[in-house]
This record gives sequence, C-alpha cells and structure tokens, in this order.
Amino acid sequence: MNLRVLGCSGSIAQDCRTTSFLLNDSVLVDAGTGVGDLTLDEMAAIDHILISHSHLDHVLGIALIADSVMHRRMSGDECRPIRVHALPETLEALRRHVFNNVIWPDFTRLPRPQQPILELHPIEIGQRLTLADLPIEVLPAAHTVPACGFGVATPSGWWIYTGDTGPNPALWRTLRGRRIAQLVIETAFSDDERALAEVSKHLSPSMLAAELEQLEEHTRVVITHVKPGEMAAVTGQLAAMGLGRTITPLARGETFRF
Ligand SMILES: [Zn+2]
Ligand SMILES: [Zn+2]
Repeated sequence: MNLRVLGCSGSIAQDCRTTSFLLNDSVLVDAGTGVGDLTLDEMAAIDHILISHSHLDHVLGIALIADSVMHRRMSGDECRPIRVHALPETLEALRRHVFNNVIWPDFTRLPRPQQPILELHPIEIGQRLTLADLPIEVLPAAHTVPACGFGVATPSGWWIYTGDTGPNPALWRTLRGRRIAQLVIETAFSDDERALAEVSKHLSPSMLAAELEQLEEHTRVVITHVKPGEMAAVTGQLAAMGLGRTITPLARGETFRF
C-alpha cells in the first residue's frame, strides 16, 4: 500500500494543512485542507473517502472535492459517485450542517438525486470492509463527538490511524498481539496545554507516553495533528521524557510504502 501524507497538522498556517492521507491514489482518509494540494486529475481519481469524525478540519474537503470533480466524473448522463464512509452520527452531521443548501449545496443529490456525486455509507466500530482492494477495519476512538480511527491490513502489517482521540484503552485492547507497520497517533497539544487537551479529548506528550505504555516497544510511532506553532514544544517534551523509542512527527508530502 502506498501512503501519501497530504495534511497532518492540527490547523492551518503557511505550510500547514489539516488531516488528509491518500492510500493507493483512490482512497482518502479524512478530507482536511491537505486535499487542496492534489491536482484536479488526482482528486478526480478518489473513489472513497473515510471520515474519522465530523469536525471541520477533517470534513471540509469533502464539500470542495465534490464541487471540483463532479464534472470530471461524469460521462454523458452517468456520474461516478465518490463514496463517503463514516459513522452514522458523522453522516447525519454532514447532512444537517454542511450539505443543507445553506453552508453548501446538497451534493448528495447533485447532479441528479438518483445519481449523485456523493454517496454516504454508514460504518460502525469493529466493522471490516474492503475498499479498492484494501482491507480496512474501523477502530474505536474517544473524542468529543462520535469518532473512529482506521486500520489497514498491508503486507508489512497494520497501518493504524487513531483519528482525533484522548486516552483510548479500547484501541490498545483491539490491537493487542497484532503486527503494526506504523501507528499514526495524534498529539494535538504540548504539555503546556494539557488541560485543554484533556477537555477537548486530544493528547499531549505526557498523555501520549501513557498511551504508548500499552503498546509493544518496537512499534513504529509517528505523531500527527500537532497544532501549528506547538511542534517545537511537543518534540522537545517528547525527547525530554526519554521514552526509549523514536517518535517522529509526520510531515506533509511524506510518502510511505507498506
Ligand atoms: Zn476533532
Ligand atoms: Zn482534528
């Protein structure tokens, strides 16, 4: 599986894009501002979008991609849909608060109600599904709104993306004994803002350390969703803790093969 990091920042600023990962050119995991760096052809090749939760930094790209590629995905009267996979609560939030003909046109009924550019497909925690030949598992997350993470089974082991989450014992129970190729785990705040991390159900370095104690030592860990301007504090605090493992921040534009 090829992974391309389009965005891995907790918010926007110059050179910072919000969460978006492209798997094998046709499966997008979260639709943050990183998708804006794709060419129109690359964007038009996306057949599936997995969404971890309803927060704006993860969903705004769905609305804009639909607008950008609708024409390209039509041949004659036929429109090739993009399938959006998310928890039912997330899909309902998108229907009510984004595709409501106020914030954005209802692309679940355009260009025609019976053949829309966006199809919304509910998923549930623990579900396994195959999208574009990728075996995917929906993983638990603990955030301020219903949320999930995703795992993808690859020849090198599981690629795991936690989504936005605070302390998440259910995830570590689920992953016990599995071979993990890479764990992408959020660390949104530095420890200076640990109280804010706790109330918003994110992680800070000391909270991350407690999470990683529940994981085998050799697992490759990369962090994502660090807020712009907090990167030096987060990496400094992680280094100072001497966790005995290498933890690197993901970078926009990085590619991996698993
Ligand atoms: Zn969130
Ligand atoms: Zn987020």
